[in-house]
Amino acid sequence: MTWSNWAGNVSATPARVLEPRSVDEAADVVKRSADRGERVRVVGAGHSFTPLCATDGALLRLTHLSGIRGIDCARQRVRVAGGTPLHVLNPILDGIGLALPNLGDIDRQSIAGAIATGTHGTGLRHQGIAAAVTGLSMVLADGSVVSVDDSHDPELFQAARVGLGAFGVVTEVELQCVPAFRLRALETPGRLGEVIDGYEQLVAEYDHVDFHWFPHTDRVLLKRNSRVSDDDPGQPQPAWRERLDEDILSNKVFGALNRAASLRPGIVPSLNQVSARVLGAKEYTDTSWKVFCSSRDVRFRESEYAVPRASLPAVISALRTWIDTHDVTLPFPIEVRSTGADDVWLSTAYERENAYVAVHQYHRMDDGGVFAAFEAIVREHLGRPHWGKLHTLGADDFARLYPRFGDALQVRDRVDPDRRFTNDHLTHILGP
Ligand SMILES: Cc1cc2nc3c(=O)[nH]c(=O)nc-3n(C[C@H](O)[C@H](O)[C@H](O)COP(=O)(O)OP(=O)(O)OC[C@H]3O[C@@H](n4cnc5c(N)ncnc54)[C@H](O)[C@@H]3O)c2cc1C
Repeated sequence: MTWSNWAGNVSATPARVLEPRSVDEAADVVKRSADRGERVRVVGAGHSFTPLCATDGALLRLTHLSGIRGIDCARQRVRVAGGTPLHVLNPILDGIGLALPNLGDIDRQSIAGAIATGTHGTGLRHQGIAAAVTGLSMVLADGSVVSVDDSHDPELFQAARVGLGAFGVVTEVELQCVPAFRLRALETPGRLGEVIDGYEQLVAEYDHVDFHWFPHTDRVLLKRNSRVSDDDPGQPQPAWRERLDEDILSNKVFGALNRAASLRPGIVPSLNQVSARVLGAKEYTDTSWKVFCSSRDVRFRESEYAVPRASLPAVISALRTWIDTHDVTLPFPIEVRSTGADDVWLSTAYERENAYVAVHQYHRMDDGGVFAAFEAIVREHLGRPHWGKLHTLGADDFARLYPRFGDALQVRDRVDPDRRFTNDHLTHILGP
Protein backbone atom coordinates (compact mmCIF):
# COMPACT_ATOMS: atom_id res chain seq x y z
CA MET A 1 0.00 0.00 0.00
CA THR A 2 1.03 3.60 -0.42
CA TRP A 3 1.00 5.74 2.68
CA SER A 4 0.87 9.52 2.53
CA ASN A 5 0.75 12.24 5.15
CA TRP A 6 -2.09 14.70 5.81
CA ALA A 7 -0.66 17.39 3.53
CA GLY A 8 -0.03 14.89 0.71
CA ASN A 9 3.58 16.06 0.24
CA VAL A 10 5.15 12.84 1.64
CA SER A 11 4.33 9.33 0.53
CA ALA A 12 5.95 5.95 0.95
CA THR A 13 5.38 2.31 0.15
CA PRO A 14 6.00 0.30 3.32
CA ALA A 15 6.67 -3.42 2.99
CA ARG A 16 4.00 -3.96 5.63
CA VAL A 17 1.63 -1.86 7.72
CA LEU A 18 1.00 -3.34 11.15
CA GLU A 19 -1.55 -2.42 13.80
CA PRO A 20 -0.58 -4.23 17.00
CA ARG A 21 -3.42 -4.88 19.45
CA SER A 22 -1.26 -4.87 22.58
CA VAL A 23 2.14 -3.78 23.84
CA ASP A 24 3.30 -7.41 23.62
CA GLU A 25 2.26 -7.54 19.98
CA ALA A 26 4.10 -4.26 19.30
CA ALA A 27 7.23 -5.74 20.92
CA ASP A 28 6.82 -8.86 18.81
CA VAL A 29 6.55 -6.80 15.62
CA VAL A 30 9.79 -4.98 16.44
CA LYS A 31 11.58 -8.28 17.21
CA ARG A 32 10.38 -9.87 13.97
CA SER A 33 11.46 -6.83 11.98
CA ALA A 34 14.88 -7.07 13.61
CA ASP A 35 15.09 -10.74 12.56
CA ARG A 36 14.31 -9.70 8.99
CA GLY A 37 16.77 -6.81 9.11
CA GLU A 38 13.87 -4.49 8.34
CA ARG A 39 13.52 -0.87 9.46
CA VAL A 40 10.53 0.24 11.53
CA ARG A 41 8.75 3.59 11.64
CA VAL A 42 5.76 4.44 13.77
CA VAL A 43 3.11 6.78 12.45
CA GLY A 44 0.57 8.70 14.51
CA ALA A 45 -2.04 10.71 12.64
CA GLY A 46 0.39 11.51 9.80
CA HIS A 47 0.12 15.26 10.40
CA SER A 48 3.83 16.01 10.06
CA PHE A 49 4.99 17.72 6.89
CA THR A 50 8.50 16.23 7.05
CA PRO A 51 9.20 12.62 5.96
CA LEU A 52 9.62 11.38 9.55
CA CYS A 53 7.29 8.42 9.06
CA ALA A 54 8.29 7.40 5.52
CA THR A 55 9.61 3.86 5.25
CA ASP A 56 9.97 0.94 2.88
CA GLY A 57 10.11 -1.35 5.92
CA ALA A 58 7.44 -1.85 8.58
CA LEU A 59 5.04 0.99 9.34
CA LEU A 60 3.38 0.69 12.75
CA ARG A 61 0.10 2.33 13.56
CA LEU A 62 -0.98 2.31 17.20
CA THR A 63 -4.67 2.68 16.35
CA HIS A 64 -5.59 -0.04 18.86
CA LEU A 65 -3.39 1.32 21.63
CA SER A 66 -5.71 4.13 22.61
CA GLY A 67 -7.34 5.36 25.82
CA ILE A 68 -6.59 6.00 29.49
CA ARG A 69 -4.40 3.41 31.23
CA GLY A 70 -4.28 4.91 34.73
CA ILE A 71 -5.17 7.99 36.78
CA ASP A 72 -3.26 9.37 39.76
CA CYS A 73 -5.86 11.77 41.18
CA ALA A 74 -3.63 13.08 43.97
CA ARG A 75 -0.92 14.18 41.52
CA GLN A 76 -3.33 14.99 38.67
CA ARG A 77 -1.45 12.66 36.35
CA VAL A 78 -2.82 10.29 33.74
CA ARG A 79 -1.21 7.47 31.79
CA VAL A 80 -2.53 7.23 28.25
CA ALA A 81 -1.83 4.77 25.47
CA GLY A 82 0.55 6.16 22.82
CA GLY A 83 -1.93 5.99 19.96
CA THR A 84 -4.61 8.05 21.73
CA PRO A 85 -5.76 10.94 19.53
CA LEU A 86 -5.89 14.31 21.30
CA HIS A 87 -9.54 14.72 20.26
CA VAL A 88 -10.29 11.55 22.23
CA LEU A 89 -8.06 12.47 25.16
CA ASN A 90 -9.31 16.04 25.77
CA PRO A 91 -12.98 15.18 26.49
CA ILE A 92 -11.93 12.20 28.66
CA LEU A 93 -9.71 14.46 30.75
CA ASP A 94 -12.51 17.00 30.99
CA GLY A 95 -14.82 14.27 32.27
CA ILE A 96 -12.49 13.65 35.22
CA GLY A 97 -11.97 17.36 35.90
CA LEU A 98 -8.53 17.61 34.28
CA ALA A 99 -6.96 19.20 31.20
CA LEU A 100 -3.64 19.49 29.44
CA PRO A 101 -2.08 22.84 30.40
CA ASN A 102 -1.70 23.98 26.80
CA LEU A 103 -2.53 22.72 23.30
CA GLY A 104 -1.83 23.55 19.67
CA ASP A 105 -4.32 24.64 17.01
CA ILE A 106 -5.80 21.23 16.27
CA ASP A 107 -6.57 17.98 18.11
CA ARG A 108 -6.19 15.39 15.34
CA GLN A 109 -2.68 14.25 16.36
CA SER A 110 -1.93 11.18 18.46
CA ILE A 111 -0.40 11.95 21.84
CA ALA A 112 2.84 10.09 21.02
CA GLY A 113 3.09 11.78 17.61
CA ALA A 114 2.37 15.22 19.06
CA ILE A 115 5.10 15.02 21.68
CA ALA A 116 7.60 13.34 19.31
CA THR A 117 7.95 16.53 17.23
CA GLY A 118 7.54 19.07 20.02
CA THR A 119 3.98 20.16 19.23
CA HIS A 120 3.20 23.42 21.00
CA GLY A 121 0.55 26.07 21.40
CA THR A 122 1.12 29.58 22.64
CA GLY A 123 1.59 31.31 26.00
CA LEU A 124 4.67 32.82 27.54
CA ARG A 125 3.93 31.23 30.91
CA HIS A 126 3.33 27.83 29.26
CA GLN A 127 5.27 25.20 27.35
CA GLY A 128 4.74 22.64 24.62
CA ILE A 129 2.91 19.36 25.26
CA ALA A 130 6.14 17.36 25.77
CA ALA A 131 6.97 19.50 28.81
CA ALA A 132 3.90 17.98 30.52
CA VAL A 133 5.24 14.43 30.00
CA THR A 134 6.39 12.85 33.27
CA GLY A 135 6.94 9.27 32.10
CA LEU A 136 7.05 7.08 29.00
CA SER A 137 6.71 3.36 28.31
CA MET A 138 8.48 2.22 25.19
CA VAL A 139 9.32 -0.81 23.08
CA LEU A 140 13.03 -0.58 22.31
CA ALA A 141 14.85 -1.84 19.22
CA ASP A 142 15.63 -5.21 20.85
CA GLY A 143 11.94 -5.75 21.63
CA SER A 144 12.29 -5.05 25.36
CA VAL A 145 9.62 -2.94 27.06
CA VAL A 146 10.84 -0.21 29.43
CA SER A 147 9.27 2.54 31.51
CA VAL A 148 11.37 5.66 31.94
CA ASP A 149 11.01 8.90 33.86
CA ASP A 150 13.10 11.39 35.82
CA SER A 151 14.50 8.67 38.06
CA HIS A 152 14.47 5.57 35.79
CA ASP A 153 16.88 5.98 32.88
CA PRO A 154 16.47 9.79 32.90
CA GLU A 155 18.69 10.17 29.80
CA LEU A 156 16.43 7.99 27.68
CA PHE A 157 13.41 9.81 29.14
CA GLN A 158 14.85 13.21 28.23
CA ALA A 159 15.84 12.15 24.72
CA ALA A 160 12.56 10.39 23.95
CA ARG A 161 10.16 13.10 25.16
CA VAL A 162 10.69 14.90 21.86
CA GLY A 163 12.09 11.74 20.29
CA LEU A 164 11.06 11.77 16.59
CA GLY A 165 10.31 8.05 16.84
CA ALA A 166 14.07 7.48 16.88
CA PHE A 167 14.38 5.88 20.32
CA GLY A 168 11.59 3.32 20.29
CA VAL A 169 7.86 2.83 20.04
CA VAL A 170 6.11 4.90 22.69
CA THR A 171 3.26 2.77 23.99
CA GLU A 172 2.26 4.85 27.01
CA VAL A 173 2.67 8.49 28.00
CA GLU A 174 2.26 9.84 31.54
CA LEU A 175 1.04 13.43 31.54
CA GLN A 176 1.01 16.05 34.25
CA CYS A 177 -2.42 17.63 33.94
CA VAL A 178 -3.98 20.67 35.57
CA PRO A 179 -7.54 21.14 36.86
CA ALA A 180 -9.93 21.65 33.92
CA PHE A 181 -10.20 25.35 33.09
CA ARG A 182 -12.10 27.73 30.87
CA LEU A 183 -10.74 30.39 28.55
CA ARG A 184 -12.16 33.73 27.49
CA ALA A 185 -11.32 34.17 23.81
CA LEU A 186 -11.02 37.62 22.32
CA GLU A 187 -10.43 37.84 18.57
CA THR A 188 -9.96 41.22 16.94
CA PRO A 189 -8.67 42.54 13.64
CA GLY A 190 -5.56 44.71 13.84
CA ARG A 191 -2.56 46.17 12.00
CA LEU A 192 0.74 44.33 11.81
CA GLY A 193 2.89 47.29 12.95
CA GLU A 194 0.73 47.92 16.02
CA VAL A 195 0.73 44.27 17.07
CA ILE A 196 4.50 43.94 16.65
CA ASP A 197 5.12 47.17 18.58
CA GLY A 198 2.85 46.05 21.41
CA TYR A 199 3.81 42.38 21.32
CA GLU A 200 5.83 42.25 24.57
CA GLN A 201 2.98 43.84 26.48
CA LEU A 202 0.42 41.53 24.88
CA VAL A 203 2.26 38.30 25.76
CA ALA A 204 2.85 39.55 29.30
CA GLU A 205 -0.79 40.50 29.79
CA TYR A 206 -2.66 37.56 28.22
CA ASP A 207 -2.20 33.85 28.90
CA HIS A 208 -2.22 32.79 25.24
CA VAL A 209 -1.53 35.20 22.36
CA ASP A 210 -1.63 34.14 18.72
CA PHE A 211 -1.78 36.35 15.66
CA HIS A 212 -2.32 35.66 11.99
CA TRP A 213 -0.83 38.13 9.56
CA PHE A 214 -2.28 38.14 6.05
CA PRO A 215 0.71 38.54 3.70
CA HIS A 216 0.54 41.22 0.97
CA THR A 217 -1.42 43.34 3.50
CA ASP A 218 -0.71 44.86 6.90
CA ARG A 219 -3.77 43.19 8.40
CA VAL A 220 -3.76 40.72 11.26
CA LEU A 221 -6.25 38.71 13.24
CA LEU A 222 -5.22 38.88 16.90
CA LYS A 223 -6.32 36.11 19.28
CA ARG A 224 -6.01 36.61 23.03
CA ASN A 225 -7.13 33.88 25.40
CA SER A 226 -7.31 34.40 29.15
CA ARG A 227 -7.95 31.83 31.84
CA VAL A 228 -11.10 32.68 33.80
CA SER A 229 -12.51 31.45 37.08
CA ASP A 230 -15.28 28.84 37.22
CA ASP A 231 -17.90 31.43 38.14
CA ASP A 232 -17.07 33.72 35.22
CA PRO A 233 -20.38 34.47 33.45
CA GLY A 234 -18.87 34.18 29.93
CA GLN A 235 -20.74 31.96 27.50
CA PRO A 236 -19.67 29.69 24.61
CA GLN A 237 -20.41 30.86 21.08
CA PRO A 238 -23.90 30.02 19.87
CA ALA A 239 -23.78 26.84 17.74
CA TRP A 240 -24.74 28.77 14.56
CA ARG A 241 -21.81 31.21 15.04
CA GLU A 242 -19.37 28.39 15.68
CA ARG A 243 -20.57 26.63 12.54
CA LEU A 244 -20.42 29.83 10.51
CA ASP A 245 -16.88 30.64 11.66
CA GLU A 246 -15.28 27.24 11.71
CA ASP A 247 -17.12 25.15 9.19
CA ILE A 248 -18.13 27.74 6.63
CA LEU A 249 -15.74 30.73 6.78
CA SER A 250 -12.56 29.02 8.04
CA ASN A 251 -12.91 25.91 5.95
CA LYS A 252 -15.47 25.97 3.10
CA VAL A 253 -15.17 29.62 2.05
CA PHE A 254 -11.45 29.68 2.75
CA GLY A 255 -11.04 26.47 0.70
CA ALA A 256 -12.94 28.02 -2.23
CA LEU A 257 -10.86 31.22 -2.01
CA ASN A 258 -7.66 29.17 -2.07
CA ARG A 259 -8.82 27.18 -5.09
CA ALA A 260 -9.57 30.49 -6.84
CA ALA A 261 -6.16 31.81 -5.81
CA SER A 262 -4.41 28.76 -7.25
CA LEU A 263 -6.03 29.51 -10.64
CA ARG A 264 -5.48 33.29 -10.50
CA PRO A 265 -2.65 34.10 -8.07
CA GLY A 266 -2.94 37.81 -8.94
CA ILE A 267 -6.12 38.11 -6.87
CA VAL A 268 -4.42 36.98 -3.64
CA PRO A 269 -3.59 40.43 -2.17
CA SER A 270 -7.24 41.48 -2.54
CA LEU A 271 -8.45 38.13 -1.20
CA ASN A 272 -6.23 38.50 1.86
CA GLN A 273 -7.70 41.95 2.53
CA VAL A 274 -11.18 40.39 2.39
CA SER A 275 -10.24 37.34 4.52
CA ALA A 276 -8.78 39.55 7.22
CA ARG A 277 -12.02 41.55 7.40
CA VAL A 278 -14.46 38.64 7.17
CA LEU A 279 -12.93 36.99 10.23
CA GLY A 280 -14.15 39.86 12.38
CA ALA A 281 -14.18 40.52 16.11
CA LYS A 282 -15.65 38.01 18.52
CA GLU A 283 -15.56 37.17 22.19
CA TYR A 284 -16.68 34.00 23.95
CA THR A 285 -15.78 31.72 26.85
CA ASP A 286 -15.48 27.96 26.69
CA THR A 287 -13.69 24.85 27.96
CA SER A 288 -9.95 25.18 27.31
CA TRP A 289 -9.54 22.59 24.57
CA LYS A 290 -12.58 23.87 22.67
CA VAL A 291 -10.95 27.30 22.51
CA PHE A 292 -7.43 26.08 21.74
CA CYS A 293 -8.34 23.63 18.95
CA SER A 294 -10.32 24.07 15.76
CA SER A 295 -10.68 22.09 12.56
CA ARG A 296 -8.38 22.67 9.58
CA ASP A 297 -9.88 21.17 6.45
CA VAL A 298 -8.03 23.20 3.82
CA ARG A 299 -4.76 21.39 3.04
CA PHE A 300 -1.47 23.28 3.12
CA ARG A 301 2.27 22.89 3.54
CA GLU A 302 3.99 24.61 6.41
CA SER A 303 7.37 25.64 7.75
CA GLU A 304 7.64 26.92 11.31
CA TYR A 305 10.70 28.16 13.13
CA ALA A 306 11.27 29.08 16.76
CA VAL A 307 13.42 32.19 17.22
CA PRO A 308 14.42 34.02 20.40
CA ARG A 309 11.49 36.34 21.06
CA ALA A 310 13.64 39.46 20.77
CA SER A 311 14.22 38.52 17.10
CA LEU A 312 10.54 38.58 16.18
CA PRO A 313 10.34 42.17 14.82
CA ALA A 314 13.45 41.66 12.67
CA VAL A 315 12.22 38.31 11.32
CA ILE A 316 8.77 39.66 10.42
CA SER A 317 10.25 42.76 8.83
CA ALA A 318 12.70 40.73 6.69
CA LEU A 319 9.98 38.28 5.70
CA ARG A 320 7.62 41.10 4.75
CA THR A 321 10.29 42.77 2.62
CA TRP A 322 11.05 39.48 0.88
CA ILE A 323 7.38 38.74 0.14
CA ASP A 324 6.74 42.29 -1.10
CA THR A 325 9.72 42.20 -3.47
CA HIS A 326 9.27 38.73 -4.96
CA ASP A 327 6.83 37.13 -7.31
CA VAL A 328 5.09 34.97 -4.72
CA THR A 329 1.48 34.75 -3.63
CA LEU A 330 0.48 33.47 -0.23
CA PRO A 331 -3.23 33.11 0.44
CA PHE A 332 -2.62 31.61 3.90
CA PRO A 333 -1.92 33.81 6.92
CA ILE A 334 1.46 33.70 8.66
CA GLU A 335 0.98 32.65 12.29
CA VAL A 336 2.96 33.98 15.26
CA ARG A 337 2.95 32.41 18.73
CA SER A 338 5.23 32.37 21.79
CA THR A 339 6.02 29.93 24.57
CA GLY A 340 8.16 29.85 27.68
CA ALA A 341 11.38 27.84 27.94
CA ASP A 342 11.43 24.15 28.90
CA ASP A 343 14.02 21.51 29.80
CA VAL A 344 13.28 18.90 27.12
CA TRP A 345 16.54 18.13 25.29
CA LEU A 346 15.23 18.26 21.71
CA SER A 347 12.42 20.74 22.29
CA THR A 348 12.56 23.91 20.18
CA ALA A 349 12.02 25.71 23.51
CA TYR A 350 14.97 24.03 25.26
CA GLU A 351 16.19 26.68 27.71
CA ARG A 352 14.84 29.45 25.46
CA GLU A 353 11.74 31.66 25.38
CA ASN A 354 10.65 31.62 21.77
CA ALA A 355 8.49 33.32 19.25
CA TYR A 356 7.24 30.84 16.63
CA VAL A 357 6.71 32.07 13.08
CA ALA A 358 4.82 29.74 10.73
CA VAL A 359 4.62 30.20 6.95
CA HIS A 360 1.95 28.24 5.07
CA GLN A 361 1.22 27.64 1.43
CA TYR A 362 -1.97 26.18 -0.05
CA HIS A 363 -1.22 22.61 -1.13
CA ARG A 364 -2.08 23.22 -4.79
CA MET A 365 0.24 26.24 -5.09
CA ASP A 366 3.96 26.48 -5.60
CA ASP A 367 5.74 28.01 -2.61
CA GLY A 368 7.56 30.46 -4.93
CA GLY A 369 10.75 30.13 -2.90
CA VAL A 370 9.23 31.51 0.30
CA PHE A 371 10.18 28.49 2.46
CA ALA A 372 13.86 28.75 1.45
CA ALA A 373 13.85 32.54 1.92
CA PHE A 374 12.18 32.17 5.33
CA GLU A 375 14.77 29.58 6.37
CA ALA A 376 17.61 31.89 5.33
CA ILE A 377 16.09 34.69 7.43
CA VAL A 378 15.55 32.64 10.58
CA ARG A 379 18.99 31.01 10.33
CA GLU A 380 20.43 34.45 11.13
CA HIS A 381 18.48 34.34 14.40
CA LEU A 382 19.42 30.84 15.59
CA GLY A 383 16.06 29.56 14.37
CA ARG A 384 15.14 26.05 15.43
CA PRO A 385 12.70 24.41 13.01
CA HIS A 386 9.61 22.58 14.22
CA TRP A 387 10.63 18.93 13.75
CA GLY A 388 7.35 18.11 12.00
CA LYS A 389 7.32 21.07 9.59
CA LEU A 390 9.29 21.81 6.42
CA HIS A 391 12.98 22.62 6.81
CA THR A 392 16.27 21.51 5.28
CA LEU A 393 18.54 21.56 8.37
CA GLY A 394 20.74 18.57 9.12
CA ALA A 395 22.58 16.98 12.05
CA ASP A 396 25.47 19.50 11.95
CA ASP A 397 23.03 22.39 12.30
CA PHE A 398 21.21 20.73 15.17
CA ALA A 399 24.50 20.05 16.99
CA ARG A 400 24.96 23.85 17.04
CA LEU A 401 21.35 24.69 17.92
CA TYR A 402 20.71 22.16 20.70
CA PRO A 403 23.15 22.00 23.65
CA ARG A 404 22.06 18.41 24.49
CA PHE A 405 21.99 17.12 20.89
CA GLY A 406 25.18 15.07 21.41
CA ASP A 407 23.72 13.53 24.58
CA ALA A 408 20.59 12.52 22.70
CA LEU A 409 22.72 10.88 19.99
CA GLN A 410 24.61 8.91 22.65
CA VAL A 411 21.30 7.59 23.98
CA ARG A 412 20.35 6.66 20.41
CA ASP A 413 23.61 4.72 20.02
CA ARG A 414 22.86 2.86 23.23
CA VAL A 415 19.20 1.95 22.62
CA ASP A 416 19.23 1.57 18.84
CA PRO A 417 22.78 0.65 17.76
CA ASP A 418 21.54 -1.07 14.58
CA ARG A 419 19.29 1.87 13.67
CA ARG A 420 16.09 -0.15 13.57
CA PHE A 421 14.10 3.12 13.87
CA THR A 422 15.54 5.19 11.07
CA ASN A 423 14.93 6.33 7.52
CA ASP A 424 16.67 8.74 5.10
CA HIS A 425 15.20 11.79 6.81
CA LEU A 426 16.34 10.69 10.27
CA THR A 427 19.79 9.96 8.89
CA HIS A 428 19.84 13.54 7.61
CA ILE A 429 18.65 15.19 10.82
CA LEU A 430 20.28 12.93 13.43
CA GLY A 431 23.14 11.42 11.46
CA PRO A 432 23.78 7.80 10.42
C1 LIG B 1 -3.43 21.05 10.26
C2 LIG B 1 -2.23 20.95 11.17
C3 LIG B 1 -2.17 21.75 12.29
C4 LIG B 1 -1.05 21.67 13.14
N1 LIG B 1 -0.99 22.48 14.24
C5 LIG B 1 0.09 22.46 15.03
C6 LIG B 1 0.21 23.32 16.16
O1 LIG B 1 -0.70 24.10 16.48
N2 LIG B 1 1.36 23.28 16.88
C7 LIG B 1 2.39 22.45 16.55
O2 LIG B 1 3.42 22.48 17.24
N3 LIG B 1 2.30 21.60 15.52
C8 LIG B 1 1.18 21.58 14.76
N4 LIG B 1 1.10 20.72 13.70
C9 LIG B 1 2.16 19.72 13.52
C10 LIG B 1 1.79 18.43 14.25
O3 LIG B 1 1.34 18.69 15.57
C11 LIG B 1 3.02 17.53 14.39
O4 LIG B 1 3.58 17.30 13.14
C12 LIG B 1 2.70 16.21 15.09
O5 LIG B 1 3.87 15.47 15.25
C13 LIG B 1 1.69 15.37 14.35
O6 LIG B 1 1.24 14.31 15.18
P1 LIG B 1 0.87 12.92 14.51
O7 LIG B 1 0.17 12.09 15.53
O8 LIG B 1 0.18 13.16 13.23
O9 LIG B 1 2.31 12.32 14.28
P2 LIG B 1 2.99 11.83 12.91
O10 LIG B 1 3.13 12.98 12.01
O11 LIG B 1 2.27 10.65 12.42
O12 LIG B 1 4.42 11.41 13.47
C14 LIG B 1 5.28 12.39 13.97
C15 LIG B 1 6.49 11.72 14.62
O13 LIG B 1 6.05 11.00 15.77
C16 LIG B 1 6.57 9.70 15.72
N5 LIG B 1 5.60 8.85 16.42
C17 LIG B 1 4.27 8.76 16.23
N6 LIG B 1 3.75 7.86 17.08
C18 LIG B 1 4.77 7.35 17.79
C19 LIG B 1 4.88 6.38 18.81
N7 LIG B 1 3.83 5.74 19.30
N8 LIG B 1 6.11 6.09 19.30
C20 LIG B 1 7.22 6.73 18.86
N9 LIG B 1 7.17 7.68 17.90
C21 LIG B 1 5.95 7.97 17.38
C22 LIG B 1 6.68 9.38 14.25
O14 LIG B 1 7.59 8.32 14.02
C23 LIG B 1 7.21 10.70 13.74
O15 LIG B 1 8.59 10.79 13.93
C24 LIG B 1 0.01 20.77 12.85
C25 LIG B 1 -0.08 19.95 11.70
C26 LIG B 1 -1.18 20.05 10.88
C27 LIG B 1 -1.25 19.18 9.64
